[in-house]
Amino acid sequence: MARYTDASCRLCRREGTKLYLKGDRCYSEKCAFTRKGYPPGAHGRGRRQKISEYGLQLREKQKTRRIYGVLEKQFRRYFVEADRRKGVTGETLLQILESRLDNIVFRMGLARSRAEARQLIRHGHFAVNNQKVNIPSYLTKQGDEISVREGSKNQPFFKELAEWGATQGTAAWLDVDREKLAGKVIRLPLREELDIPISEHLIVELYSR
Ligand code: SF4
Repeated sequence: MARYTDASCRLCRREGTKLYLKGDRCYSEKCAFTRKGYPPGAHGRGRRQKISEYGLQLREKQKTRRIYGVLEKQFRRYFVEADRRKGVTGETLLQILESRLDNIVFRMGLARSRAEARQLIRHGHFAVNNQKVNIPSYLTKQGDEISVREGSKNQPFFKELAEWGATQGTAAWLDVDREKLAGKVIRLPLREELDIPISEHLIVELYSR
């Protein structure tokens, strides 16, 4: 399966904003964007370009893809699905992205980043409604129960994760039981509940060209 394997921090520098792809490191002084907040590459520091309307739309789409760790083809599929559903297309697109299992695991504090969530899911540590699911892009629904599988719960890694998770806030649309390393999707998130720096209308404009 194709996936991005280059340095994650380059993506933040390319997008000109922190995308929080590396968990705790993103909040520390080691963050590459804090140290070098200019675009990557030999001419990154001196580059100052006027960006077109198309460029703005494109950057917004790329930024969103990178935050959620989704490749172009799949992102396009999500947009087509969002456009097909009732409601505001941009918001629906974000709701679809938010309902991915890797995002839910991250939002529940059962992983420190979406990338870590993807790895843990692929390694078979999670279940949805008590059924093992090892597909990070699995789309959860209202009422789904997500849990660390019984065989994994006693691993030191998950015990540490539970302690770390206890220091994190919980989204209002999710119900999390940190002791049980489990949680439930109460409902889809509202736009104002999502703390992501995205102007989704630019993505809709891009794909509507
Ligand atoms: Fe981005 Fe995190 Fe790297 Fe900072 S540490 S540049 S926020 S991925």
